[in-house]
Formats: sequence, structure tokens, C-alpha cells
Amino acid sequence: MQKNFFHFNIESFRHFLINDLSVDEKQASMRSKQIWDFVYKKGYSKIADLTTLPIELRNKIISSISFDVPKIISTQVSTDGTIKWLIRLLDNNEVECVFIPEKTRATLCISSQVGCTLNCRFCHTGTQRLVKNLHFSEIVNQVMIAKEQLNDWDEQKKISNIVLMGMGEPFYNYENVKFAVEILKDKLGLSYGLKKITVSTAGIANKIPDAAREIGTYLALSLHAPNDEIRELIMPINKKFKIKELVQQCKYYSSIVKEKITLEYVMLRGINDSLECAKQLVKLMAQFPCKVNLIEFNRWPGVQYLPTERQDMEKFAKIIENAGYIATIRRSRGQDIFGACGQLRTESQKKK
Ligand code: SF4
Repeated sequence: MQKNFFHFNIESFRHFLINDLSVDEKQASMRSKQIWDFVYKKGYSKIADLTTLPIELRNKIISSISFDVPKIISTQVSTDGTIKWLIRLLDNNEVECVFIPEKTRATLCISSQVGCTLNCRFCHTGTQRLVKNLHFSEIVNQVMIAKEQLNDWDEQKKISNIVLMGMGEPFYNYENVKFAVEILKDKLGLSYGLKKITVSTAGIANKIPDAAREIGTYLALSLHAPNDEIRELIMPINKKFKIKELVQQCKYYSSIVKEKITLEYVMLRGINDSLECAKQLVKLMAQFPCKVNLIEFNRWPGVQYLPTERQDMEKFAKIIENAGYIATIRRSRGQDIFGACGQLRTESQKKK
């Protein structure tokens, strides 16, 4: 049976060349790097163009390895240029990923799970029960597919940043996320520097120290409330990991990674948007290096919350800025195609 190229890491691929394709041990390291670099830099559909590889080896690779990737089954383009792809995985489950072009950068938001266990009350994904953790190849393939769609194979990348903020909680699929980031950041792989990748967590506090040591990307914490009382109301995970513990682990993360942590704060009218909440948030922000993104709430069918008015968001931001911290109001992107923050959801269900 053919092996799928994307299930290898570079070391296991080198072993495969030696053991299965009888490549000389002395040559295997060079050949594995050459093929690896080509596929991740030029795309999986052009392997037959790798003419610097001896023809015999090229033919062996084409016959013994599949370069199959999940398929895009729908593409929606927002009036603001955001693109949402619905992707059918090789096992027929479905995930979504979203491309968000801006003036100075373009971000690809990818998923780490099909569905989610965390059930954050304001999030559409949270209404879809967890179907599965994505394999690291399925995480990386979202980037490969998007690059293929955008013909993004030049040195000057069209997708400049990658955020793991799509469907799922990355730290509940920790090992696969870790392996995926290895490939995303590898100079021979997709070659995104650690400072171009952000992993977002809803607050799985006990995984934050491991991520500081082993993943090392930018970290985004979906905080969404300045105290336990409100946070528990909108994020049930707060019953398990309280804000005090999150603050402790964020201090540790920033001491290792030496970058500000981004706090994500979706603004829900009458829930977490009072000026008192802003003052409490300032006190929290004083405890570790961080900045906050204030996110316009994106509605979805059946949700009970309303977005905070724009002028109230600005007043909230002012309190934070006056205290000396960065508060950025994030414009909603891709709302008309349900591609905005917290709106992703697919029809996949766990098989009984
Ligand atoms: S916000 Fe993130 S962690 Fe919470 S339910 Fe949605 S996908 Fe899951």
C-alpha cells in the first residue's frame, strides 16, 4: 500500500528512503532534504518536475508514495476579500480554514480539531461535539491546500502569518499541533518563522508551560472576561482552570518565549463590556507582558449574545490604553460567509 508523504517527518522519511526504496545510507539524508524542500516549497502537485532527482528514484517515489491531500468542497469569498474553504479530509470528516488578507499581511486561520469539547457559549464551533483530533498532516495540509489555491509558492509569501485559531482547542491535540508547528517552521519545510505562527488556547493552563518549552510560537489566550465569575458564565473551561492559574502560566510563558501574549476578548453586550470590566482587565494585564485584541462579536443562528456597540468598544479600549497597554479593536472579517472569529462549524459528526 502507498504511504502518504505528509505522514512522514523528515527523519522517518529518510529511514523510508533507506529501508523501502533502497537509497544508499550516505545519500539518504541529502535526498530526503531535497524532496522535502521541493514538496513544501514548490507544492505537492509538481513532484514529477523534480528533475534534479535521478529518474529511477523519482519513479520509485511516484509509485510508492501518495501525495494525496484533503479536497476543498466549497469556497466562499467575502465582500471584504476573506476566503473560507470547507475541506473534506481523506476520512470524509470536514474542517474549515479561513484566509484573511489585510494591507500589510495575510493570515491563514487553521483548525486543530473537528468540533470542540469546550463549548464556549459565544462560539459556533462549540455547538459541534468533538469528532476527532486532526493528525499533524491534516493540520499542515490546510496550509498546503491554501497555498495551492493561491499559487503561493514564491519566496515572497502570500500567506504571511498562520494562526491556530480555527476549529478546536490546540492544546487538547497537543502532540499533533507540536509536530505540525515543527513542519510549519522548518526551514526545509514551509519555512514560517516562529514569529509568524500563533497558537491560541482557551486556557488549558497545564499545557502552557510545555508549549513554552516545546512549541515557542506566539501565544494567544482567549480570555474574554476579566474575572472568574463572568468567565465561567461564557467559558465552562474556567471551572477547571481559573484566571489566577492562567496568569501564573502566562508569566512563565512570556519569561521563556520573551514575547507579549495576545489576550483575545470578544465583546458581548451587557456581559463583559462594562467600564468596570475594563478596569479589572487593566489590573490583570499588569501581571505579565501582554496586549489585548477587542473582537467584535459575530452572530450565528441561535446565539443569545449581542455585539457591543462600537462607541462602547472604543470607551473600553481607551481605559486600557490610558493605563499604558495596547488595545486593538479587531474589525470583523468574513462575517457574511460565516468565516469570522467563532463562526466556524461543519456538519461532521462522531461515528457511533
Ligand atoms: S472558542 Fe475555541 S475553544 Fe471555545 S468552543 Fe470555540 S473553538 Fe472551542
